[in-house]
Amino acid sequence: MLPYGKQSITEQDIKAVNRALRSDWLSGGEEVAAFEREFAEAVGAKEAVAVSSGTAALHAAMDAIGIKAGDEVIVPTITFAATANAVVFQGGIPVFADVHSGTLLLDALDVEKKITKKTKAIVAVDFAGQPCDYEALYVIAERHNILVIDDACHALGAQYHKRPIGSLAALNIFSFHPVKPITTGEGGMVTTDNEEWAKRMRQFRNHNMNREAQESPHDWFYAIEDLGYNYRLTDFQCALGRSQLQRAFDRTKRRQKIATLYDNFFVSLKGFSPLEVVKDCQHAYHLYVIRMDLHMFSADRNTVFDALRAENIGVNLHYIPVHLHALYRKKFGTAEGMCPNAEEAYRTIMSIPMYDTLADKDIQDVFTAFRKIHAFYKVQ
Ligand SMILES: *Cc1c(COP(=O)(O)O)cnc(C)c1O
Repeated sequence: MLPYGKQSITEQDIKAVNRALRSDWLSGGEEVAAFEREFAEAVGAKEAVAVSSGTAALHAAMDAIGIKAGDEVIVPTITFAATANAVVFQGGIPVFADVHSGTLLLDALDVEKKITKKTKAIVAVDFAGQPCDYEALYVIAERHNILVIDDACHALGAQYHKRPIGSLAALNIFSFHPVKPITTGEGGMVTTDNEEWAKRMRQFRNHNMNREAQESPHDWFYAIEDLGYNYRLTDFQCALGRSQLQRAFDRTKRRQKIATLYDNFFVSLKGFSPLEVVKDCQHAYHLYVIRMDLHMFSADRNTVFDALRAENIGVNLHYIPVHLHALYRKKFGTAEGMCPNAEEAYRTIMSIPMYDTLADKDIQDVFTAFRKIHAFYKVQ
């Protein structure tokens, strides 16, 4: 089965981890600081803070900007649940905004409709690796004096108007889960130009232990003034991250090439169409998502999905709109009808194999399976 996404580990990666394992520091050592420095530089940010997952990175960001009980944060409903959950961790209220049906990126007009006196921030998700419309989002954010945060978990390697993702928003979130653009097994990063926030997040990932507290008379002293967590990333994971980072942008280029091959193929296969690509951006293609025109087939998406799996094409679905999950219905009263574009897309989308080590013959296998299924289910 060709999976929808896959990590790539080289001998160089393994050597880097080995070196870190033989060093004196398995956690809290120099690899962490070096990974942070190199990552910040790679995305054009002043600061990068390494944490144990993308989810922890989102949580640290919510804490840094002071999200607390009753605060509202606008999130797109087409995202991984962690984007919204991080707001809930802090006692905040995630308010779901709809997406554009062509791109599945946050719809700025719907965002503005959902702003209230309690709104503190907007989380933009660069879905599939494609940057959101930051120009539009910033106009709204400035008008209402709220912050823009970028959940860039899909988007390492992407660019918006020639600026790298990771340098655009007040805080930018990355995940190093194995399917993501680079991996540390599990891991995450927040980038920012705000040194205060960076300092706060470095404390937050370590139980909010403040070693520089005023009253600190001794080396061993630390003050705990607020709740923190153990969100540390180990040195051997950071060693892997540093090694992975060196190849990150070459891997983006290979995925962009694969995307071009897919784009050309789907032009000739009526009934399936890739998501729209916006102008003046570099798409990082963490995912390659297609939509089915249900009128052109005698089967629904689920049937076609299962048929592709039966052909060993490991299609997947990104995402179940978060506002439809039972947790959010129960706790926040969300319901069907709140984000119609997302709900409509949910019936027609699927993600097909997209990763840099996908070989040309694998791509031919994807094409063969699609041709077969298209011929079988298309309406005559
Ligand atoms: C993967 C992902 C996360 C969570 O990252 P983890 O490292 O798995 O905790 C958050 N948001 C989005 C959009 C993601 O894809």
